[in-house]
Amino acid sequence: MNHEHRVLNPATEELVATVPATTAAEVDAAVTRAAAAQRAWAALAPGDRARLLRRFAVVVDEHAEELALLEVTEAGHTVGNARWEAANVRDLLDYAAGGVERLTGRQIPVPGGIDLTFLEPLGVVGVIAPWNFPMPIAAWGTAPALAAGNAVLLKPAETTPLTALRLARLALDAGLPEHLFQVLPGAGDVAGNALVEHPGVAKIVFTGSARVGKRIMAGCADRVKRLTLELGGKSPNIVFADADIEAAAAAAPMSFLDNAGQDCCARSRILVQRSAYDRFLELLVPAVASVVVGDPSDEKTDMGPLISRTQLERVRAYVPPGADGIRGGAPTGPGFWFPPTVLTGIAPDAPVATEEVFGPVAVVLPFDDEDDAVRLADATEHGLAGSIWTRDVGRALRVSRAVRAGNLSVNSHSAVRYWTPFGGYKQSGLGRELGPDALTAFTETKNVFIGTEA
Ligand code: NAD
Repeated sequence: MNHEHRVLNPATEELVATVPATTAAEVDAAVTRAAAAQRAWAALAPGDRARLLRRFAVVVDEHAEELALLEVTEAGHTVGNARWEAANVRDLLDYAAGGVERLTGRQIPVPGGIDLTFLEPLGVVGVIAPWNFPMPIAAWGTAPALAAGNAVLLKPAETTPLTALRLARLALDAGLPEHLFQVLPGAGDVAGNALVEHPGVAKIVFTGSARVGKRIMAGCADRVKRLTLELGGKSPNIVFADADIEAAAAAAPMSFLDNAGQDCCARSRILVQRSAYDRFLELLVPAVASVVVGDPSDEKTDMGPLISRTQLERVRAYVPPGADGIRGGAPTGPGFWFPPTVLTGIAPDAPVATEEVFGPVAVVLPFDDEDDAVRLADATEHGLAGSIWTRDVGRALRVSRAVRAGNLSVNSHSAVRYWTPFGGYKQSGLGRELGPDALTAFTETKNVFIGTEA
């Protein structure tokens, strides 16, 4: 018998839906259907595949508000963020559609003939998504994989399957072939693991915790299965004394409070040059106090609840009792609420300063000079993102090049863009998503030599 997953509204703890969990046998049947659909899809003219993906983008756009409200309800995202997320799915599909007819191989000069390379689809791709950005992260893998001629089986997180299921329906409404894009809600160690172990799945795209990512990597090793990993982060926000300190302090709160801190790019380690430390903290107090925490469906809200009680307990355990710092307000009563929290006087090697909290908690640490800033920035096993605030352009570039992370912003905390590459150094991940090369990650390069001498 199938198990069911209960989907709760994290702002109210009310039951939103129950969703049947996919069994391993059902995953197996889905792979067989997807493989047949993929062969027909790859045989279509590139222009026809592109047109269908563009139509999918239009249908998503027509349902953007419905998708956004579903995300508010199942994930507690603020409605502003949720609208951005639905639009992001639309834009990803459009961008990927533009790549279908540009997925060209090469002709390489060789003696005695002609040498050609082809970018062939992999076949069936498994996308395993987390709960923190259910829609965009599902689309980061799905859109380019489909565009490159693959079928996709998407396993959403247990807590947030509803937008994914709706997207699969919308794909059919847009005219995408049946079974080409299937959503398989269910438990990670059942449905997710079945995708990892299935010989008919050619690649896994996983976004989630390092703990599960390492397990999936080991599972893929057995078959040398292709793999992209997007794991956690503990990103630094480096503020030099020569920066516009007012602007840096004003921007700091939402750089770690967006999505209640459940963001792998959260700038949750604020590193401030010692000579500007006191001034920065003084400015940070009103900036944190001005963050509106509450009902995510209210357009004025900046920050909603955490996803679940488990996550709330996990975040709470990271904050040492009686620690100094700055705290904002949060609702009391039902819902998984945690207030904006900035901790001071924390040892640089304390768990809250080096491990991903995945909640609205940051630490502020002082540093002396550029070398010290880079050393501190790199003092975690993560390397996903980071920000550098300085008016010295040479320093901005030196530090950007020196920090071992995949995505750096100068004098900003730029969001992830679908048209620039995204991914992590060190234990933050493997491979890159998005950007101009996104489709190539879902292909095998085949080399063909044609002799002209015979
Ligand atoms: P998680 O690792 O627990 O789960 C992620 C997904 O993997 C879920 O769909 C889950 O069901 C599935 N899963 C769990 N066990 C599995 C198994 N044995 N085999 C196959 N699939 C399995 O992570 P989470 O709690 O959903 O998300 C939070 C974590 O994800 C944080 O650590 C965060 O940093 C990370 N994250 C990283 C990025 C990034 O882009 N780097 C983005 C979002 C989240």
